[in-house]
Amino acid sequence: MTEHDPSDGGPVPRQAGDLTHPGGMRARRVFPFDQLPNLDPFVVFERFFIEPTQGFGTHPHRGFEIVSYMLDGAMAHEDSMGHASTARTGDAMRITTGSGMEHSEMPGDDEACSGLQLWVNLSRSKKDLEPSYQEASSEELPVTERDGATITTVVGADAPIDLHTPVTYQDVAITDTWEWEVPDGWNGFAFVISGSGRVGEHSLESAAFFTIENGGSVTIESDTEVRIAAIAGEPHHEPIRQRGPFVL
Ligand code: MN
Repeated sequence: MTEHDPSDGGPVPRQAGDLTHPGGMRARRVFPFDQLPNLDPFVVFERFFIEPTQGFGTHPHRGFEIVSYMLDGAMAHEDSMGHASTARTGDAMRITTGSGMEHSEMPGDDEACSGLQLWVNLSRSKKDLEPSYQEASSEELPVTERDGATITTVVGADAPIDLHTPVTYQDVAITDTWEWEVPDGWNGFAFVISGSGRVGEHSLESAAFFTIENGGSVTIESDTEVRIAAIAGEPHHEPIRQRGPFVL
């Protein structure tokens, strides 16, 4: 069940946790953290910050899919499938880690970078898929202008990134209000990238998030051009067993 506020019945925002990875890279993590271990089908979500002297050297993954979406600067990716490329601001990449792969994620262009990383569980029948990689440049991501909001679709209708779980992932710059609908039976969360706004009676500041479980809709109001990542997916209803970089 979504955590409800008895006064208005709407979602209650919380702040993402502060985390420092081995190597010093900072992150604001939504889950797994404190009282929110995950949000089926999602395993990990964080905003990461990599300084030019830092980076995630070669490390393994398996059993899930990764979507990285760059907010600032560039990230250079190299993997054991033979891909080497640099994602810059507004670009997205997807890795289906499947039966297992290795990669590195280092700052590109000798600059600091920041982005969003999402881990989506693979259903048990797809855990051993062959690993694969896909990227989408910012120009390939569909942009929709609405009254009160500009929506960039990172994953979902007409966006090129393919996942093995039904997911919608929208980057929404709100100037007035925007209504977010999570399909019946799906779980979703919204994370504030920048600016400030409100959901119901609650204020939304940078790095705040709230969840919607089992579908529903909510209206987000902007105070100072709030920008959010609004992400929803169809749950697998299978246990999520994360062991560090692996999801069993
Ligand atoms: Mn990784």
